Amino acid sequence: MAWQRDGNCRAPDRRLFEPRGGRQMYNIAAQSPGPNKYVTTRRDTRSVGDIANILHADLDAFYASVEQLLNPALRGKPVLVGGGVVVAASYEAKAMGVSPPMNIRRALALCPRAVVVSGSFDQYLDLSRRVMDVCRDFTPYLEQISIDEAFLDVSGSVHLFGPAATIAGEIRRRVKQEVGLPISVGVARTKFLAKVASGQAKPDGVLVVDPETETEWLHALPVRVMWGVGPVTEARLHSRGIVTIGQLAEASEASLAHWLGPGIGRHFHALSWNRDPRSVVTERRAGSVGAQSALGRGHSDLESLGQVLLRLADRVSSRMRAKNRAGRTLTVRVRFDDMSRASRAVTLPAAVASTAALHHAGLPLLADAQGDAGRNLTLVGIAVSKLEVGGPLQLELPFDDGDPIRAGSKIGAAHLLVDRKVDLARDRFGRDAVGRASVLLGKKGGMPDEFRELAEKS
Ligand SMILES: [Mg+2]
Repeated sequence: MAWQRDGNCRAPDRRLFEPRGGRQMYNIAAQSPGPNKYVTTRRDTRSVGDIANILHADLDAFYASVEQLLNPALRGKPVLVGGGVVVAASYEAKAMGVSPPMNIRRALALCPRAVVVSGSFDQYLDLSRRVMDVCRDFTPYLEQISIDEAFLDVSGSVHLFGPAATIAGEIRRRVKQEVGLPISVGVARTKFLAKVASGQAKPDGVLVVDPETETEWLHALPVRVMWGVGPVTEARLHSRGIVTIGQLAEASEASLAHWLGPGIGRHFHALSWNRDPRSVVTERRAGSVGAQSALGRGHSDLESLGQVLLRLADRVSSRMRAKNRAGRTLTVRVRFDDMSRASRAVTLPAAVASTAALHHAGLPLLADAQGDAGRNLTLVGIAVSKLEVGGPLQLELPFDDGDPIRAGSKIGAAHLLVDRKVDLARDRFGRDAVGRASVLLGKKGGMPDEFRELAEKS
């Protein structure tokens, strides 16, 4: 169980945390002799969904805050983390109008005194783990969604630690005291609303959304705070006169489907009424490994799209190899410039984990998804599923020596060997120390891959 990871933090029995409203509910009987005695208590008449028991905890300007923590000279100063692009900005820099992701030159024009740092990756991972450990002291129902944010279901913890608001305050106090970082927490009835609330609580705050008045509260907010509304969707909604979430809620689902596409329309309509049945998913066993790349204005040329695919294959396969995994099903997803999407998948005869194999198998899928018209793509993503442990390590009999997909073929084995050496060199000298020439040359001052990987790691 995730609890006893290091043996230095003995957490209470998981049964203490059973969410209320389940088939059975446990509570500690104060008078019960000895440890591990539970009694079933009266069931709460309200169902789980009526109570604000979901927390969204989100570290404030995480990478920038870590840099300020590590280097006291940076505290109180505008700090930009990144390379060609600002990946994170301290609140001092945000106050000057810097907002990630922004070109670093533009950010420096807005904020000339800013200190630019390239990033302390090992420290980010270590501090993130320590923060999540603090959160897990309050509930085992934790779903980490990125390096610096997590959902927590505290339905079963309130009888141990007090109401959700108290738990939120306690998490903030301990993260500040024990790790040294500011964290904001939103508390609400659904994941969606908790996420909106933590955003509104920033910087360094807590916000509890009362279920009685949540609709009024949500409807007064601008559409941009909705999870999934980026600048493009925001502009589309504004052009229809929809500025607040209340106005979005008043629009019919059919209109939203017409303007934004059926899936997105239905999704936003439900969220605008806080209809979000998603529960906090713990111990998510990664069933797939994926990465995606947004292409700005878009590309239609298959050669440059192939380069994007190669970089994605490189990122995904190195993560798979680091976890000693290989996968059989490859999915390529694309988004067109009219926001519509397409995907193609193939299940391979054997599990693969080499960059070349994913690239080789992905190219025809990409071409097929793009269609004969050679449409303009604004996003390419790949995912590998049907994962197996240790797959490519056991070489199969070499049936077909020319097949780059099979790890057991001569060429497949050679590719895997190259990948292993690349992985080893990167371990020692950093992500950009070595790579396929076409991948390295195709790079143009975008978001550094280390940040993409941290974001994908969760
Ligand atoms: Mg954050």
